[in-house]
Amino acid sequence: MTAQEVLRRTPGTTVMVLDRDTVASGATRRSAGLHFPRGATERVRRMSAYSQDWYERLRAAQPDVPVRPLGMTVVAGTDADTEAELRTAYLPEARLRPATGPVAAGRVTVPDGRAAWTADGCQYADVGALTARLARGLRSRAAFREGVRVTAVRAAADAVELRLGTGERVTAARAVLAPGPWLGDPAWAEALAPLGLRVKKVVALHVDVAPSAADGAVVFHDEDAFLLPLHDRGHWLFSYTCQEWDVTPDELGGGVSPRNLREARELLARYAPAFAARCASGRVFCDAYNPTGPGPAVTALDTAGRLVFAGAAGGSGYRLAPALAAEAADLLDPRPAAADETRSTK
Ligand SMILES: Cc1cc2nc3c(=O)[nH]c(=O)nc-3n(C[C@H](O)[C@H](O)[C@H](O)COP(=O)(O)OP(=O)(O)OC[C@H]3O[C@@H](n4cnc5c(N)ncnc54)[C@H](O)[C@@H]3O)c2cc1C
Repeated sequence: MTAQEVLRRTPGTTVMVLDRDTVASGATRRSAGLHFPRGATERVRRMSAYSQDWYERLRAAQPDVPVRPLGMTVVAGTDADTEAELRTAYLPEARLRPATGPVAAGRVTVPDGRAAWTADGCQYADVGALTARLARGLRSRAAFREGVRVTAVRAAADAVELRLGTGERVTAARAVLAPGPWLGDPAWAEALAPLGLRVKKVVALHVDVAPSAADGAVVFHDEDAFLLPLHDRGHWLFSYTCQEWDVTPDELGGGVSPRNLREARELLARYAPAFAARCASGRVFCDAYNPTGPGPAVTALDTAGRLVFAGAAGGSGYRLAPALAAEAADLLDPRPAAADETRSTK
């Protein structure tokens, strides 16, 4: 995303994309890819609005991108504080309003003390396929080095030097580090330590129930969980907030654990017992979080501003990606912002 944004702003810039694996192999490949027009902080709401607009324009320009608009229901507590919180968190574009009719064709029950709301602006993507497609569109304008690991990064006053696993060195005027959950890689662990970022396991269970064409996402606001009909794959997905912190991506090969299954089923049983019974597998990986920040981290790591970190969107790295890329591109090119609506999310 950042490579694309840099080239959009300044065509002809020499850009190299480096990945130790193939592009879209990390958190991106496992992503549930849900976007909803919401943000817990003012900055994230701005980023969410920017990204929503960006994806809508992408769909208008390329109608066959793997991004699918969805209906959306929000289930939340009926107390006045929760309603006030919802009305702040959801963007005006969401047009939040009390839901009428059953949720997920009656397969989701709204218990006493909870109410259902309808919102607009929701979509989901096959994030891996979308990223591969964006990469394809860039290959004629940027060099791609896949299967090439960055083993060291050094920012000097006049350039950034990268050492690669191939034994080569690359010197760049500027570099963006977007390592997803690989924060602990020795190449940059020390440089990132002051940011206080952490890595958390992210779990999304697969529910073996076929969605019907009209099904939309159901967001459980108080539990920070959601049900998503994966129309392209033919089953539902249930994402809940797993509280396993400080995991490392290269040690997460164990798949769904008994604890993950128990926690997900317990929560799902409260709202959709039939779904809980059909939930036995899923996707398990991790993502970087910014526990102290008002949303993702986009910041220079050196005094000259040549080395920029972009990430730690905390399980929202698909839905906030266009805004993250715009903020990273702003830092790479510190000229005063032009009167271009795509230039800044700040
Ligand atoms: C199960 C799951 C569900 C999710 N659901 C959602 C959702 O519904 N909505 C949403 O918005 N977000 C969701 N997310 C979060 C979102 O997918 C991530 O925030 C986003 O994909 C992160 O993208 P990234 O490019 O920063 O990281 P990644 O996709 O992890 O990419 C980082 C890349 O860095 C490369 N790399 C690492 N170390 C090196 C090195 N030394 N040298 C070279 N390359 C290196 C890796 O190979 C990798 O390809 C989910 C995440 C998970 C795991």
